[in-house]
Amino acid sequence: MSPVVVIGAGLGGLSAAVHLAAAGRQVIVVEARIEPGGCCGTAHVGAYRFDTGPSVLTMPGVLAEVFGAAGQELRHWLPLRRLDPSYRMVFDDGSRLDVLPEREAMAEQVRTVCGPAEAARYERYRRLLDELFQVEWPMFIDADMTRLGALARPVALLRLAALGGFRRLDRLAARHLTDPRLIKAHTFQALYVGLSPQRALGIYAVIAHMDTIGGVYFPESGGMHAIPVAMAALLEKLGGSIRYGVRARRVNADGDGVTGVLLEGGERLPARQVVVACDRLAARRLLPEPADDWRLRHPRHSPSCLVVHVGLDRPLADQAHHTLHFGRTWRETFTALAAGRPQPDPSLLVTCPEPDGEAAPDGHATLSVLEPAPNLRHADWNRLRPELEARLLGRMAELGYGDLAGAPRLVLDPPGWAARGHSAGTPFALDHRFTQTAWLRPSAIARRVPGLHFAGMYTAPGVGVPTVLISGRLAAERILKEAR
Ligand SMILES: Cc1cc2nc3c(=O)[nH]c(=O)nc-3n(C[C@H](O)[C@H](O)[C@H](O)COP(=O)(O)OP(=O)(O)OC[C@H]3O[C@@H](n4cnc5c(N)ncnc54)[C@H](O)[C@@H]3O)c2cc1C
Repeated sequence: MSPVVVIGAGLGGLSAAVHLAAAGRQVIVVEARIEPGGCCGTAHVGAYRFDTGPSVLTMPGVLAEVFGAAGQELRHWLPLRRLDPSYRMVFDDGSRLDVLPEREAMAEQVRTVCGPAEAARYERYRRLLDELFQVEWPMFIDADMTRLGALARPVALLRLAALGGFRRLDRLAARHLTDPRLIKAHTFQALYVGLSPQRALGIYAVIAHMDTIGGVYFPESGGMHAIPVAMAALLEKLGGSIRYGVRARRVNADGDGVTGVLLEGGERLPARQVVVACDRLAARRLLPEPADDWRLRHPRHSPSCLVVHVGLDRPLADQAHHTLHFGRTWRETFTALAAGRPQPDPSLLVTCPEPDGEAAPDGHATLSVLEPAPNLRHADWNRLRPELEARLLGRMAELGYGDLAGAPRLVLDPPGWAARGHSAGTPFALDHRFTQTAWLRPSAIARRVPGLHFAGMYTAPGVGVPTVLISGRLAAERILKEAR
């Protein structure tokens, strides 16, 4: 059998490659950058090391399955620790709510901050989230959406409708919870799929389930980038190869389907099956014309983000790993982002990983702050960048993080994301509006080009670490069933 070529060593591509190699297939991954991980990357500024992508892992069982496919235990390759609190939420009135991983502790926390009646409502909402999750996981998330028939599950659809999955997320939460802070804590996650809680469907309440109930995790050492590093090492142990600093230029095909991949530089890799696991819009120029997908005709991208990574000369006292500072505005925040404008009074996500002995010199620490912001389709970032960066640093000083202006820092803005190959300058791909969800998201196969598969955040189930890992496994499963 000819090898399978995977284009892109992001988490989606690596997951596909590991599953294929574990099943005995020869796999070659080509990766344009000099390291694995894609979005889950790393950067150094002087003696400081930062994760440039996700700052926590949810649903670690999905990652464990990737290692399990190769008969390996995740904990031997990558010990993880559960973060407690999962998040700290700080509201504009100065009040604070810690999201705690244990149910009873969390209910107690809600009782203290929001009162006993709200705590009872919270317990009921939590049960609803559990139920939504149980129905959705096998139906929408861990499911191959290359056939419309995958959605033909009337009993599950009716159950989802009964649970409120097809209402708007903000209304679903407000039907059960009354404290605005608790509603925010359970709906801001709509932004992870590029939408506002007013627009996102109730089915996206499962994201709140994944992090507020399932808990969030972080590698014991090496930061989040340790995840792709471990996956790449596993792949190589299984006999797969990764060629770094190598860009695919074209997927070749004839009337029978895929024949190979042409690399920049002219080398050809023969293959009868290829997984394209990179930015799908940028990849259009790599693909044969019959691989065009009508779903990509009017792509609607998620907002992007401005991220400032800062090296600190002191550790921060009493700082959670993740702190969400909500701005004064709420609805207006999402209206502005949807219209391609910056948030009027930004909500910020601050990440301060506990130093692991390598990320910062002794007695020092790192801090990263992310502000959701318009992507390149909507905004002139040459004008916006200095203004937003200064505003963000000013707000951090107001919030008590001190004067960060003089500290060593790395700033990633939409032009920076575009330079890393993300179309529209957003690393969050297409948003998850109804018409870009499940079967309506760009397909994971090209029906008219046998052997051509897709994985990663542009395809179902969509953006996020566990979801792209699943997309990689689904691509591998299809390839293993294909007679080519
Ligand atoms: C700032 C930030 C914060 C995030 N936070 C979270 C979070 O908290 N939780 C969560 O679950 N998710 C989070 N995410 C999202 C998550 O990281 C991504 O959805 C996921 O990692 C995307 O993986 P991917 O494999 O689809 O794509 P990518 O990571 O983009 O990988 C694609 C790879 O393909 C390579 N490539 C592109 N073109 C070519 C070519 N022609 N030839 C060879 N190689 C090529 C690229 O270099 C890249 O390495 C975050 C992302 C970012 C950026």
